[in-house]
Amino acid sequence: AKQSGQNHFQFYVASIDRQIRERRQMEKDLSQALSRHEFHLVYQPQISLETRRVVGAEALLRWQHSEHGLIPPDIFIPVAEASGAIVPIGQWVLEQACWQAATWAREGMPLRVAVNLSAVQLRQESIVDDVLDTLKRHKIPAGRLELEVTETSFMTNLTDAVGKLHRLHRAGISIAVDDFGTGYSSLTYLKKMPVQHLKIDKQFIQDLLINEEDTRIANTIIDLGRSLNLTVVAEGVETPEQEYYLSQRGCKVAQGYLFSKPLLPRDFETFVQTFHAQ
Ligand code: C2E
Ligand code: CA
Ligand code: CA
Ligand code: CA
Repeated sequence: AKQSGQNHFQFYVASIDRQIRERRQMEKDLSQALSRHEFHLVYQPQISLETRRVVGAEALLRWQHSEHGLIPPDIFIPVAEASGAIVPIGQWVLEQACWQAATWAREGMPLRVAVNLSAVQLRQESIVDDVLDTLKRHKIPAGRLELEVTETSFMTNLTDAVGKLHRLHRAGISIAVDDFGTGYSSLTYLKKMPVQHLKIDKQFIQDLLINEEDTRIANTIIDLGRSLNLTVVAEGVETPEQEYYLSQRGCKVAQGYLFSKPLLPRDFETFVQTFHAQ
């Protein structure tokens, strides 16, 4: 038993060591990924449940690694946040999404594009100027941009976050709270923040109508949105039953595989045309 315990321990040490090396390697690769043009954005349509029109597109980052192929953002974003690489990468995302919004507007598809803003980016001194500058360069109206922030963004320095979000909102940009209900939801910050959208996290939508607790949480977020006059967006909608329930319950916008997976720009354009032609 002692022997095997020792082996187990050695395996554990080896695996921790490997994890550290892999993480260092990923940090290094991430720092070069921009100049190697390994990133691209995909766009997921946001659908109005009232009008059944596409009202927006969420930009989602993809990393095509030269050796490892496509790496999911859930894996590399936390690493990029810890190393600080998320700052230049996030600026690239913003740049690319604004360019896309401008291009779509020129082609007769003036959609609002939502960009995920990391807590690390929001902490940057220059973030407000950077965002406003990017809008200006691409000549798109601020109302065409939405920033998705998570509840954790408010935690480190509430006053700082409030100030920055107010400046962005005053410029005309809309703010969405992403993954709502999974973090440290507090009515205090919802009152202080210039927020217009609440996104119900997909973990509550997944088992909607199957799990009673999830259904109650979704209901509560929808009611909260209504009483605070915020548009509630449901993410991860996969079935017609979920869509029907959400729209009956008063949720206004939905996003999910039921409508479409995140798409390359060309496919997104085709999706919008086909969807609106229905
Ligand atoms: P998120 O912002 O909550 O994005 C929603 C995630 O749900 C996306 O995963 C999307 O592809 C996925 N999804 C959409 N519809 C469905 C559905 O019907 N069912 C299921 N099961 N999943 C669905 P993705 O693209 O892998 O992104 C994961 C997370 O990575 C995002 O979660 C976001 O937190 C982060 N992320 C992605 N792009 C960026 C970025 O440009 N900047 C930052 N800071 N974070 C990003
Ligand atoms: Ca998001
Ligand atoms: Ca989410
Ligand atoms: Ca998330």
